[in-house]
Amino acid sequence: MAAQATRDTGAELELRRELHSRGLRYRVNFRPDPTLRRSADIVFTRARVAVFVDGCFWHACPEHGTVPKANRDWWNAKLTANTARDRDTDSALRAAGWSVVRCWEHDDPRQVADLVEQVVRKEPQRSGYEGNLRRPKSESMAARRMVSK
Ligand SMILES: [Zn+2]
Repeated sequence: MAAQATRDTGAELELRRELHSRGLRYRVNFRPDPTLRRSADIVFTRARVAVFVDGCFWHACPEHGTVPKANRDWWNAKLTANTARDRDTDSALRAAGWSVVRCWEHDDPRQVADLVEQVVRKEPQRSGYEGNLRRPKSESMAARRMVSK
């Protein structure tokens, strides 16, 4: 279910292409932690970074998310459950020592790639794009701490 309709979307392919062109190598649709029954879209095993490219519909993007009119209650429950599962996945991965980067399919792949590259290479955060990325403040602070030690 995790891969529902989000597998190999255009946005994800573009991001993968961008990361690949920067010399980064990764696993695709891979389970970062074998004990967790969740896979991430793009996984950097050595750096322990999991990347998710969330579809605006399935993950209820605040800008583009919609709820179909037919079976509205069912869809509301479904999309709410998806979002809760995302948060649960994030915290489980972080608890297992992974950095999690989430973006929307509507995010600019080059800007997402900038951020992913910084986290993977453990570079200090350059000023720049973090705006619409689904990356909670605490995570970017954690990444900074990780980088500064
Ligand atoms: Zn969106």
